[in-house]
Amino acid sequence: MNKFNSFPNIKTNLSLLLSHHSITITTLTLSNLKQQQTQTSKQRVSEQTCLSLLHSCTTLTSLTQIHSLILKLGLHQNPLVLTKFASTSSNFNSINYASSFIFPYDPNAHNADPPLFYDAFLFNTVIRAYAQTLNSKSLALHFYKTMLCYGVLPNKFTYPFVLKACAGIGGLNLGKSVHGFVVKLGFEDDLHVQNTMIHMYCCCEGEVEFARKVFEGSPKSDSVTWSAMIGGYARSGHSAEAVGLFREMQVEGVCPDEITMVSVLSACTDLGALELGKWLESYVDRMKITKSLELCNALIDMFAKCGDVDKAMKLFRRMSTSTIVSWTSVIDGLAMHGRGLEAVSLFDEMVEQGVAPDDVAFIGVLSACSHSGLVDKGHYYFNSMEKNFGIVPKIEHCGCMVDLLSRAGLVKEAVEFVQNMPIEPNQIIWRSIITACHARGELKLGETISKELIKSEPMHESNYVLLSNIYAKLLRWEKKTKVREMMDMKGMKKIPGSTMIELNNEMYEFVAGDKSHDQYKEIYEMVDEMGREIKRAGYVPTTSQVLLDIDEEDKEDALHRHSEKLAIAFALLNTNPGTPIRIVKNLRVCEDCHSATKFISKVYNREIVVRDRNRFHHFKNGLCSCRDFW
Ligand code: ZN
Ligand code: ZN
Repeated sequence: MNKFNSFPNIKTNLSLLLSHHSITITTLTLSNLKQQQTQTSKQRVSEQTCLSLLHSCTTLTSLTQIHSLILKLGLHQNPLVLTKFASTSSNFNSINYASSFIFPYDPNAHNADPPLFYDAFLFNTVIRAYAQTLNSKSLALHFYKTMLCYGVLPNKFTYPFVLKACAGIGGLNLGKSVHGFVVKLGFEDDLHVQNTMIHMYCCCEGEVEFARKVFEGSPKSDSVTWSAMIGGYARSGHSAEAVGLFREMQVEGVCPDEITMVSVLSACTDLGALELGKWLESYVDRMKITKSLELCNALIDMFAKCGDVDKAMKLFRRMSTSTIVSWTSVIDGLAMHGRGLEAVSLFDEMVEQGVAPDDVAFIGVLSACSHSGLVDKGHYYFNSMEKNFGIVPKIEHCGCMVDLLSRAGLVKEAVEFVQNMPIEPNQIIWRSIITACHARGELKLGETISKELIKSEPMHESNYVLLSNIYAKLLRWEKKTKVREMMDMKGMKKIPGSTMIELNNEMYEFVAGDKSHDQYKEIYEMVDEMGREIKRAGYVPTTSQVLLDIDEEDKEDALHRHSEKLAIAFALLNTNPGTPIRIVKNLRVCEDCHSATKFISKVYNREIVVRDRNRFHHFKNGLCSCRDFW
């Protein structure tokens, strides 16, 4: 990436370019002016012919024919024709063909003077084409660099595409250098440039603060800038900030458009904030915001992933036109809620209606089979992928199959599947087998695979946690302590579990043993009370879940302080009896919290919906919708 950091001295090149212009003008004499005029009118006719041919050109074959014609007519240095040539070729993914014709030389190797027919419009067309092509972002930047090398001055239309390319690559240093040029050339106040700059910074890992600075410096005159910043927050996983900024936007009195709403909804989906989501839906209606296909899909996805899959289904059925994205959202939602049979029949309905499933839809239907223990169906869909739809299964699909077999307790079959699958298994697949070994008591096999995994991937903390959990189940505390020591030596820590809950339009987050909350004393009293009440109802703590080698009583204490228990206690304290409780956990719910939540739902007569990293658990009257299968 570094090679893009130093752009050539633009001023030197520009003065060079200007001096060429003056030479050209002085060589013109009156005597040949008339002759030139006739030539010019002839050229105009040929120019028009080429332009209209290019306008109706749709294949590479006809493009090559037009190419020959351009050369024959001597129009190969006509900027208008070349720009049209480039834009036409990019329409059917042949920008490489056009650019090798238009830019035959390497600007660094070529010592001759820069051709005069190269202008900003021509470069913009080529840069735009590459910025919009998959895996070609670095070529967009190459042509931006070429443009500067040749001394062609970029204009404000150049930068949105250059910044888009930087965003695609995620090169922060490069982005900052482009930012510097934008300021030097005085385009920093252009709204479109600003918006793509915000987008660019948001796409660079962890650089939302730079984006925020650009945003703070902008006049914020329209919803596009707000949308860019909100979208940036949402895409980079700063969902709470995205929602916060949306609130600021309303305070400032700027009306959001459907693009803003799509971003806010995706942040809301990430947070699992159903109440906020419902409010956003009514807001869209109230403000009469255009319900574009994308917005409808975002609403469906929000309801499906925030725990109201029936509402998602209702909205989906009301859509006049639906896309594969809409179908997949509902199928995924049903799968996550353990409603596997419904997910499978919706998938079949989609195929019957002639909507061809893509590989994402197959992940949805396979995980539906996995979450509901539909082993035969899973095999059927997996085999049909290539046979009926020509989709070669990817590692994700194989992962779903391993998950399906493992969850169904067929650990040996899962290992066999991995040994025979056409793709090299990745660490995720091995980890899911280890989890299955842990759950199904195949502890020796789990230990062997974990050790192998640690050898091949020594810096991945999950591998150690898995091995440590297996030793805990085997009650081998000394081995478990050794694993812990290995982790400490390598400076690794377990990812802290955290749980979020929405209450009165605010999001609250709890981590294990959290004491940061105002109400923490009451919360801990409530946790103790919950513990006593559910024990009376028959709950026995699953103490092997505790990582540390401590005595039984302390272990129970550590379990009490798991973040989901704190969040549930907080909800019991602050909501009316009978109100359903919805929480979102960042990791997989542990066995003990799962068992405790079942008892809490019965003892306190509350419906508790938990979204963990993998799926939804609906706890009601002492039972969970996952049938203890997650
Ligand atoms: Zn737990
Ligand atoms: Zn469950």
